[in-house]
Amino acid sequence: MRGVRRAARRAQRSDAEVRSSATGHPRRGGSLGALRGLRSWLAGPGVPCSSLAVVPLCLSISPSQTVVQTSMSRFQVALLGLGLLLMLLLYVGLPGPPEQTSWLWGGPNVTILAGLTPGNSPIFYREVLPLHRARRVEVVLLHGKAFNSHTWEQLGTLQLLAQRGYRAVALDLPGFGNSAPSKEANTEAGRAELLERVLRDLEVHNAVLVSPSLSGRYALPFLIQGHHQLRGFVPIAPASTQNYTQEQFWAVKLTKRGAMASEGLEGEHPSVTLFRRYLRIRTVQPEPDYGAAVAFLEERAHQLGLGCQKVEVAPGYVVTILTWPGTNPRLSSLILNSHTDVVPVFKEHWSHDPFEAFKDAEGYIYARGAQDMKCVSIQYLEAVRRLKAEGRHFPRTIHMTFVPDEEVGGHKGMELFVQRPEFRALKAGFALDEGLANPTDAFTVFYSERSPWWVRITSTGNPGHGSRFIEDTAAEKLHKVVSSILTFREKERQRLQSNPHLKAGAVTSVNLTKLEGGVAYNVVPATMSASFDFRVAPDVELKAFEEQLQGWCQAAGDGVTFDFAQKWTESRVTSTDDSDPWWAAFSGACKDMNLTLEPEIFPAATDSRYLRAVGVPALGFSPMNLTPVLLHDHDERLHEAVFLRGVDIYTRLLPALASGLAGPPRWPAKALAPGGAH
Ligand SMILES: [Zn+2]
Repeated sequence: MRGVRRAARRAQRSDAEVRSSATGHPRRGGSLGALRGLRSWLAGPGVPCSSLAVVPLCLSISPSQTVVQTSMSRFQVALLGLGLLLMLLLYVGLPGPPEQTSWLWGGPNVTILAGLTPGNSPIFYREVLPLHRARRVEVVLLHGKAFNSHTWEQLGTLQLLAQRGYRAVALDLPGFGNSAPSKEANTEAGRAELLERVLRDLEVHNAVLVSPSLSGRYALPFLIQGHHQLRGFVPIAPASTQNYTQEQFWAVKLTKRGAMASEGLEGEHPSVTLFRRYLRIRTVQPEPDYGAAVAFLEERAHQLGLGCQKVEVAPGYVVTILTWPGTNPRLSSLILNSHTDVVPVFKEHWSHDPFEAFKDAEGYIYARGAQDMKCVSIQYLEAVRRLKAEGRHFPRTIHMTFVPDEEVGGHKGMELFVQRPEFRALKAGFALDEGLANPTDAFTVFYSERSPWWVRITSTGNPGHGSRFIEDTAAEKLHKVVSSILTFREKERQRLQSNPHLKAGAVTSVNLTKLEGGVAYNVVPATMSASFDFRVAPDVELKAFEEQLQGWCQAAGDGVTFDFAQKWTESRVTSTDDSDPWWAAFSGACKDMNLTLEPEIFPAATDSRYLRAVGVPALGFSPMNLTPVLLHDHDERLHEAVFLRGVDIYTRLLPALASGLAGPPRWPAKALAPGGAH
């Protein structure tokens, strides 16, 4: 508080200056601004008052006119003030409604201090200190176009806040009241910075920011950038709202709510608040708002003091990389990968809006991406934040990669990224990527994936009239192939069902997903086709499997061929042998935490396959035990306690993996296959 006292002393001079300006003797541009503001107020709405040429008119208003107009405007002032105060009081959570309006005008025993902030473009402010027991929250009052800090004094707001135990500061924005215009105010970033600097200079830490109309140009960019020292925001029709997206406002609301919660109202953990904020960004296929996600991540990088690199792998598809440099640059790095997109929703089947991140009374957070995989993205970020806050340093560099497009195959995401020089420059030694929830007490970890093979079988035969017995038709031959493949399917299904130790990823699955052909009821078509989605288990010899496919087609007759819409042949397995240093570090840290691991083959495809294909060992791990697998499902949700436990788990895992002990001593760990993704 020493700074405040100093400011108060500084204030005596400036205060005198203000008083003199109120008597109609402007000495500085700022005071002229005050008069312009006053004139505009007296003139009432609808009368333009922007030209400097009309200022003398303001000064020549006769005393009688002023009295009449002032008494009218006082009524307006009282109404406006009452409205503003009610909002403010409700927000700050003062006990009970005002009993009487007379204290709108404040008490005579409140001293209003004034001063200028230090530095090149000083900002004029008025300040009151708590009269009695001080509250933890401070109030910062901005102003609209026709006003300045003096308005808050005239209204009695400053006095009232002092009586109620608040420290309150009213600012004159640059070019208003007693603050000179500032070049800084020309840009959004400049205005945000200016406001931040002023609050810092005035040692305001727990502010509720009151921002009417024009001041939104300062307050909104300031808020959007995420300022956690704020305790609340009271917007009164702020300007510039059109410059921001709904997500950005959601984000702001959330930060504020989280901050309020830390006061003990809701008691929500800030990591959960951040998670819910990220969930509200609509990165939903087929038109994900990637821009908002990237902006969010850039903000996190800024907040955490991490390097931030953006690699546009295809037009509009940006991979964002947040980097925490290690102490030994010769070591390979640890990659923490997550995708930013989420799958579409059928809103009518959801109990809550899937992009509201609603949290129920029990603590379940409902949102698309709650499990797949925005939880993991935030867990990485929060674990890094904690470790940094503890002052930890690790030999290995940690890169958090946030990739687009995973949910539609990763063809404009990780598949392209692993081929870029920027990826090679990361010197990846080992990667963590997504896994799946586990309904039991155990945690599933995925060390490999099945290979997706999308196969179309085309059968050709004799055409003819639908009334005849045509020989060798396309349909008969296609039927044979379909039968062969569905018989194989049934065998694999039974193999899985009869062996409780076998997991879904260990067998090959297949489904008939498309049938095409024909033009009319009475025309036998010359061509028909059937499409299948195969997921080939990693222990299957792919060449032999393709020969079997060939065999089924040949057995059906002549003119039956197949082609691939997708054929993944780079099936690689990440070692889960205790002699592997990465696995030893990962499983060792899990053991230290008493986590039960269930190593499995991922039943579907993730971006891990692209990493493994270029020689980077990867484990799929989403630390969600005691949680039903709800990815891509309606009512996808995660309990906040499970989410928070995940942050704890990464906080233990990262030191183990980023230490020099894990992994091979030098990079490259293994020769990276050039290109390699096909
Ligand atoms: Zn996913």
